[in-house]
Amino acid sequence: MEHPIKLYNTLTRQKEAFTPLNPPLVGMYVCGPTVYSNVHLGNCRTFISFDMIYRYLTHMGYKVRYVRNITDAGHLENDADSGEDKIAKKARLEQLEPMEIVQRYTLDFRNVMAQFNALPPSIEPTATGHIVEQIEMIEKILDEGLAYEVNGSVYFDVNKYNETDNYGKLSGRNIEELISGTRDLDGQGEKRSPLDFALWKKASPEHIMRWPSPWSIGFPGWHLECSVMSSKYLGEQFDIHGGGMDLKFPHHECEIAQCNAANKVEPVKYWMHTNMLTLNGKRMSKSTGNTLLPEELFTGDNDILDKGFSPTVVRFFMMQAHYASPLDFSNDALVAAEKGFNRLMEGITTLSVISPAKESTFDVNSWKESCYNAMNDDFNTPILIANLFEGIKAINSAKNDKASLTADDIELMRKTLTEFTFDVLGLKLETENSSSDKLNGVVEMLIAMRNEARATKNWALSDKIRDELAELGIQLKDGKDETGFTIN
Ligand code: AMP
Ligand code: ZN
Repeated sequence: MEHPIKLYNTLTRQKEAFTPLNPPLVGMYVCGPTVYSNVHLGNCRTFISFDMIYRYLTHMGYKVRYVRNITDAGHLENDADSGEDKIAKKARLEQLEPMEIVQRYTLDFRNVMAQFNALPPSIEPTATGHIVEQIEMIEKILDEGLAYEVNGSVYFDVNKYNETDNYGKLSGRNIEELISGTRDLDGQGEKRSPLDFALWKKASPEHIMRWPSPWSIGFPGWHLECSVMSSKYLGEQFDIHGGGMDLKFPHHECEIAQCNAANKVEPVKYWMHTNMLTLNGKRMSKSTGNTLLPEELFTGDNDILDKGFSPTVVRFFMMQAHYASPLDFSNDALVAAEKGFNRLMEGITTLSVISPAKESTFDVNSWKESCYNAMNDDFNTPILIANLFEGIKAINSAKNDKASLTADDIELMRKTLTEFTFDVLGLKLETENSSSDKLNGVVEMLIAMRNEARATKNWALSDKIRDELAELGIQLKDGKDETGFTIN
């Protein structure tokens, strides 16, 4: 098959064959984080999903240039055209330079991504590093008559653009509905229509992140940076643009409008959107505070989980859902994921102790094919994982002499399993008997001894175990059925 991968294109609302513009090259742009606070697990889900897509495309032989930006200016509160810059606000509250905030949270983001074994993108450009290019793009849009200047600010003229193009084509909204749905927000007085969005904003005296431009000393609008950096590094037309589905409107709709206005071409061939990670059924989000930070998850230092979970188990948990389906976070789901992950790892190790037979009772070739079919069908990782477990079942049967595998098939299974598990899903074999595993084992043993002490009402001993562990920074958490722990 020439183009085996099919993916769901949000723009056409269809699953389409993936045919890159210039194979084997693939250009992929993903909207990165706004670095004004620690990334939460919801953000991580989106970036881990695109990491899996990047990994699979690379595995399939494509040469992917993966661009993921860092938003370090221009993103205002409430994602609107008025209010304080998110980064400047944090800098003011913490009495730091905005660039100190940017540095702190960029490092946090990179560190978290590395813990999740996400590969770094090929290019990680910043908004502040591309002010000149952003000014150039505004000039082009002004030249096309699709933007206008008012009091030092420049706005995109949505109605004018909509005369020849379709504002709303990605999100499926139409302009009349959008107008009737808008509220009168601050600063809209300058706009010809409430749908118009800022390309450049004149800085108010208190706005500290500011640059000179032909229109005023000010700063670029949030949507502009992605249009500028994607076309600069991937060309005016490129293959894949991704982000969380919350970015579809207005952010991605505005990106499309800006690129069409400036370059006169449809910028993106395939738009891909990830679904949300939820906590207690509600979207994980910085603004509502319904979040869990990666560190709280790894250490178990939170009110939701009985214990900590390793980054690779969390990644496995995320891969058990399709990237475009919602995923709810819970203790039970993570416990189940941990069991599944361990079973997968044990199965891979078992492979090396099977004695080869003359004939196989398991069709390894068609099993391998179904693994590829799953991934080729819009990167369906849950089906892939189900297939991997079919393989593990066969391996365990072969170990118990209930099935057999030839030496060639054992080798093919080893290759297929390791490629999908490690290269594509990006999971990591956790080194057994590492010191942290040993420590966990010791704490679990002490918990068991404490349970025995409690069963015989030896409260002095059970309290001693709990208190002395606490002194060492190990907190026991008595749950309904079992006792969990956190290590600080
Ligand atoms: P932000 O820094 O808020 O611009 O978000 C960075 C990325 O994380 C965007 O692509 C968002 O769509 C994505 N994102 C935010 N919240 C969630 C969530 N709960 N689940 C999945 N992705 C999310
Ligand atoms: Zn973006």
